[in-house]
Amino acid sequence: QVKAEILSVGTELLLGQIANTNAKWLSARLAQMGVHMYYHGVVGDNEIRLREQFFQAKQRSDLVIVTGGLGPTDDDLTREVASEVIGASILEDEEALKRIQAVFAHRPMTPNNRKQARILQGSTILPNDVGLAPGFVLTKEGTTWIFLPGVPREMKAIMEQHGFDYIQSRFAISSTIYSKMLKFVGIGESQLEHDVHELIQKQTNPTIAPLASEGEVALRLTAKAFSEQEAKALISESERMIMQRVGSFCYGADGDTIEHKVFQLLQASGEQIAAAESLTGGQFMNQLISIPGASAICSGGIVCYTASVKEHVLNVPKLLIEQYGTVSEACAIELAVQVARKLHSSIGISFTGVAGPSELEGQSVGTVYIGIYHAGKQPYAKKFHFHGDREAVRQRSVKKGFELLYH
Ligand code: ATP
Ligand code: MG
Repeated sequence: QVKAEILSVGTELLLGQIANTNAKWLSARLAQMGVHMYYHGVVGDNEIRLREQFFQAKQRSDLVIVTGGLGPTDDDLTREVASEVIGASILEDEEALKRIQAVFAHRPMTPNNRKQARILQGSTILPNDVGLAPGFVLTKEGTTWIFLPGVPREMKAIMEQHGFDYIQSRFAISSTIYSKMLKFVGIGESQLEHDVHELIQKQTNPTIAPLASEGEVALRLTAKAFSEQEAKALISESERMIMQRVGSFCYGADGDTIEHKVFQLLQASGEQIAAAESLTGGQFMNQLISIPGASAICSGGIVCYTASVKEHVLNVPKLLIEQYGTVSEACAIELAVQVARKLHSSIGISFTGVAGPSELEGQSVGTVYIGIYHAGKQPYAKKFHFHGDREAVRQRSVKKGFELLYH
């Protein structure tokens, strides 16, 4: 079992100016390979703390991946501190220098740039085909160190082209980790967790983890095995047990989205949809139309933001608005029916509600009605209370609209 850690160097990371996407990307890729990631460290461009982190990494990890701080400027200390902790002197690599000189063939090269050709003695170069500073790797006292530039594009290119292969052969890795995400609608996170609780508790391979984000819930199944085929078999066995319990709420896996599923349903039934959007301002249609081939299933939409547009463009009776308000079940139903009629569609959906920041017609922020008309069926509207700010309320409304259409 390879115990790995990632050390990301850079004060910008500590200050929250940038997110540590390098660690995220590396971890995901290494997990797929079966490398066990034990720690992520972030340290600023500070000699003392850098030294501490390096010492700790040396003691506890088999593989340490360091990103950042290899650049030409004085605040880049990674190389110097690593040299001291690992006990390998710094030397200028001829190949690396030649490559840098080639890049500067027609413009002046500062001594700083030369610094980027410096690596630790005994290391193997991991060439950088998209930038100046190469990566390098060396093993000393049982720890393998990989040094990579901080720039994500360069870091990724080096790893894709050379780094992962190096790790694979260095550690003779043969096991793999494989995961699958099952996606659900129409069920809350706590209900989902409750329904599969027993499986979550007793399953260790694959592990089952509930996740929730932006109005959607999912279960992530992660299996470890010696081949991808074996891992997939483990996953499908547990997927079968999950489906027995909550299968009716599962709409897809991995890259599937609810809007795509709705798109496929409409495509299969040969129907067209129209939308009347008040608080969502066209976002519903926008998401549907983002899918190639949408012209077959979308007739169009009307952004009916004001009461006057609801009345004059979509023929919602003035009396209805006066009696119930625009944020009402009656208005949502009328909008759905009218937009379908006006745009010659067999399905109509409407969104009317209070996105915030202030309440409207005496209704609290987050109150939303979604109306659904489907030719030949009784039109209806549902009332929701969404949490969050204006954007969150609008996004949740759109998501919920797709959910209603899916069911
Ligand atoms: P350079 O030669 O460009 O100076 P470097 O190896 O010294 O590269 P840094 O100076 O630490 O790397 O970082 C270069 C840039 O890469 C940073 O400004 C930042 O935008 C990005 N970067 C650094 N570390 C990370 C990280 N962990 N995640 C995402 N981006 C990062
Ligand atoms: Mg730098």
